[in-house]
Amino acid sequence: MEKSDRLFKRACELIPGGVNSPVRAFRAVGRNPIFIDRAKGSKIYDVDGNTYIDYVLSWGPLILGHSHPKVVGALKKAIERGTSYGAPTSLEIELAELILEAYPSMEKVRMVNSGTEATMSAIRVARGFTGRDKVIKFEGCYHGHADGLLVKAGSGATTFGVPDSPGVPKSYARNTITLPFNDGTALKKVITTERKNIACVIIEPVVGNIGCVLPRPSFLETLRELTEKHGIVLIFDEVMTGFRVAYGGAQAYYGIKPDMTCLGKVIGGGLPVGAYGGKKEIMSMVSPEGPVYQAGTLSGNPLAMTAGIETLKIISREGTYEKLEQLAGLLEKGLTEAAKRAGVKIKCYRAGTMFCTYFTEADVVDYKTAKTSDTSRFSKFFSGMLKRGINIAPSQFEANFLSLAHTRRDVEKTIKAAYEAFKEC
Ligand SMILES: *Cc1c(COP(=O)(O)O)cnc(C)c1O
Repeated sequence: MEKSDRLFKRACELIPGGVNSPVRAFRAVGRNPIFIDRAKGSKIYDVDGNTYIDYVLSWGPLILGHSHPKVVGALKKAIERGTSYGAPTSLEIELAELILEAYPSMEKVRMVNSGTEATMSAIRVARGFTGRDKVIKFEGCYHGHADGLLVKAGSGATTFGVPDSPGVPKSYARNTITLPFNDGTALKKVITTERKNIACVIIEPVVGNIGCVLPRPSFLETLRELTEKHGIVLIFDEVMTGFRVAYGGAQAYYGIKPDMTCLGKVIGGGLPVGAYGGKKEIMSMVSPEGPVYQAGTLSGNPLAMTAGIETLKIISREGTYEKLEQLAGLLEKGLTEAAKRAGVKIKCYRAGTMFCTYFTEADVVDYKTAKTSDTSRFSKFFSGMLKRGINIAPSQFEANFLSLAHTRRDVEKTIKAAYEAFKEC
């Protein structure tokens, strides 16, 4: 890792922590990051000449794998026509049509440049629509880094938020109520007492930012019933799960219809994109149709729209998700068996092609139970995998992903490496 180490040292002198997004620094696994030279299909290549089968996939967007020829070809053509106009194009209509068709709960959609912008804007719109200020979120759910959403859980179910990060004013955090995921009773209690002040509930329907925590179906149903009853806007943050756990996202997978949805990652095909949308009467609040201001110099960027359109066209083909499900199922089964054979207790969770293995015996249903995972064991597992040419997320509390480019052989190789890595922890 000679070259990577050298580059990291230099990067640290110029960029905080040497990275432009914190988890990339590999701190959670106690080592230096690998620097990437290029990537193709299921493989990623570092600057020291090592090849890895990649399960990070840029943290979720690359459902086709790296540099898919169709996406690259379309981008090459698009770039010749100009990189940004600051004026509308038919590409924006095309991507909007693809999204709205896949998500019937969304009647109108606005493009932005990241998932963070999508959730931040959706909440502003929900507040504008309801005339209320408070937001309910769930412990361990990540909705990007907007001020009011960087709020940690309090100890009690009804504890009001304290900021998770310096720089977030207490006054912002005070409007965020944090509750445990999968706890219908706590939710009911808070909604009943605070209903007149709550603008929206925002949730990752499958929590991908503490690994992979599945919702109890009754929990999502309770959430939908309560919010509907009290005129609270229900926002599904499907930035990760959208077009990932199913073409129609977690809302199709679990059969729940939110009022608003946030998307990102997959819909950008590897370029910077986010989107938020929902019911017509809510989205009509957005400027210039309505009074809630939200804008973006590069929003609806023609290159980003092109990559998104090409990606959605390919994954909307018949049989895509069956194929992904089969491969992901094989991997889940293989990892579970490999751990058993190696005598290591793990819990493996999966929704479509997002998955996580926890080093715990507890059933992982929320933030607290996710935290029971033995992270030192995870670090050893991570290093064991990397050494054997498998790139998984460098933290226990991140989801891993499969792409259409992964083959049965990739998966078999991964299971074999996992068995050996499990034995080392
Ligand atoms: C990644 C992610 C975000 C933030 O998206 P960015 O593009 O990184 O700003 C928000 N919500 C969820 C659920 C995510 O997984």
